[in-house]
Amino acid sequence: MIIAMKPGADMDELHHFAKSLEKQGVKIHLSEGISQTVFGLVGDTSGIDEEGLLAHHLVDKVMRVQEPYKRANRLFHPHDTRLAVPGPDGAARYIGGGHLGIIAGPCSVETREQILGIAGAVKEAGAGFLRGGAFKPRTSPYSFQGLGCEGLDLLLDAKKETGLPIVTELMAIHQLEVFDGVDIIQVGARNMQNFTLLKELGHCRKPILLKRGLAATVTELLMAAEYIMAGGNEQIILCERGIRTFDNYTRNTLDLSAIPALKKQSHLPVIVDPSHATGLAWMVPAMAKAAIAAGADGLIIEVHNNPEAALCDGEQSITPAAFGSLMDILRKYAAVEGKAV
Ligand code: PEP
Ligand code: MN
Repeated sequence: MIIAMKPGADMDELHHFAKSLEKQGVKIHLSEGISQTVFGLVGDTSGIDEEGLLAHHLVDKVMRVQEPYKRANRLFHPHDTRLAVPGPDGAARYIGGGHLGIIAGPCSVETREQILGIAGAVKEAGAGFLRGGAFKPRTSPYSFQGLGCEGLDLLLDAKKETGLPIVTELMAIHQLEVFDGVDIIQVGARNMQNFTLLKELGHCRKPILLKRGLAATVTELLMAAEYIMAGGNEQIILCERGIRTFDNYTRNTLDLSAIPALKKQSHLPVIVDPSHATGLAWMVPAMAKAAIAAGADGLIIEVHNNPEAALCDGEQSITPAAFGSLMDILRKYAAVEGKAV
């Protein structure tokens, strides 16, 4: 980090200020120019508050050389992280580090027949994980809110029957009490910056699927991951699920460039949700292929046995048969990328 001090600042005051900064664990290289003095901060500056510095009467400008995230940063962890998620049989399923994690299932758990039927079909097609929402973040309070604990129980039954680890969304901290059997906890787009929730998940020892916020930058997503990692939980899967743009042809705009960007900046696995990104079932296969070609470590895809009758997100849900055909193609894409499905 570089701090340019105000022209004509008093030298004694500057030395005093430098000492106070050094107490925060960094070394200061002070360069005295003709009109301005510049501090070069060396060491871990992730804990130094840029805005706080700018409020100081001696400071003119602050420039970060290094990103404000550390644990999520590839700089300090050059190799890709491979997450191992044990299934009910004890054997690990991998995401990242050359392994594609394919998560599939309905937007919401609706009935026993629905979730068991879809779980069996996606497993048959080759999915590695089952998704299904029990607690749903809906835009309208009058829309179906999910089955709650009953939905979780049905998901657990589907896990037992198929052997697929389960992924479901956590909306509030108190729900952790009933998440014991959940294998991957999803933090939805709307909660990406719920910092209280993120901090709490830092103490949890389960992998977290962290979805990019509707209007969050790549750096903000990485800072959200950093929140969880700072608490000690380093098992994070980043998820690009489309962002808000001016175009409304699709539900969101899939930011494919976020995949190489996130992978350049971070060692964490990056997966893509083509269902929420487009909102259109017919577009899901094209975007799923594009995501793998762009370097994604996996996908989360909404699959419903009867999309027309789905209680949530039917328009973007593909059928089990379409998922099966897509998996056949994705295996070829995975092979080109040198990844295991
Ligand atoms: C979901 O996965 O069902 C969901 C609500 O996703 P998002 O948070 O990305 O909107
Ligand atoms: Mn959905």
